[in-house]
Amino acid sequence: MSKGINVHLVGGGPGDPELLTVKAVRLLQEAEVVILDRLISEGILKLIPKGTSCIYAGKAPGRHYVSQDEINEMLVKVALSGRKVVRLKGGDPFVFGRGGEEALFLAEHGIQFEIIPGITAGMGCGSSLGIPLTHRGLAKSVRFVTGHSRNNGELDLNWKSLADPDTTLVIYMGLGTIGEVTSNLIAAGLPGDTPVAAVEKGSTEDERCCITTLSDLEGRVRVEGFKPPTLFIVGKVVTLAKQLNPALEDADGGLRIVG
Ligand code: SAH
Repeated sequence: MSKGINVHLVGGGPGDPELLTVKAVRLLQEAEVVILDRLISEGILKLIPKGTSCIYAGKAPGRHYVSQDEINEMLVKVALSGRKVVRLKGGDPFVFGRGGEEALFLAEHGIQFEIIPGITAGMGCGSSLGIPLTHRGLAKSVRFVTGHSRNNGELDLNWKSLADPDTTLVIYMGLGTIGEVTSNLIAAGLPGDTPVAAVEKGSTEDERCCITTLSDLEGRVRVEGFKPPTLFIVGKVVTLAKQLNPALEDADGGLRIVG
């Protein structure tokens, strides 16, 4: 552990254990307690030594749902026990991971901690599939947005600003609301033929990817039965996957499921 700090909020990356940072691997090996999210892949779980206590925090089928408040309390409790703690989160701890809330809670309780960045799923999935999130002439910027709505209400997003053909959109947690997202983007002016990649369990052995268009996305995702964790990459850069990742190439129209 670094500088006498015993609590580490660690990004686990998109799933492939080889996409963990060297620091994340070291901390996982040194930890006495690991508090895990449900998104952590099997490959990463295998890196945790057998004797380490693992606490599962998060919603998983058949398990009690642990609320964010309970996770925060648990973190503080374990931290105060003086043991070496790794709070392992999928992707980067501070991208849609509520890691910021956990860090604030620790800070409010006077607990010192360190944050270890991870490769966020959008970058991990994009780059490993051959989709550059920015590319000269195709995308000048990239935006990470969530398709998750508070209390399952309507999405509170600025559709006009998101419907920019020169920006790549990466939509996290959007499976449940994909119809609402696509119709709003199209209504705000993004062409229905804008290419989209849907990626399920990106960077893992179970990865599936489907290249389609904004208009066809909802139907394709339902037909193919995509399940979480899935994200969507929307924008002209998706067309590059065909050249940069021959495994995705398709003879008829680019609608291809791989996996
Ligand atoms: N902190 C994480 C995101 C947590 S939100 C990060 O930086 O990546 C959870 C959402 O991330 C999922 O609903 C999904 O949209 C996305 N996600 C995480 N891992 C993924 C993966 N391996 N493949 C596809 N999407 C993934």
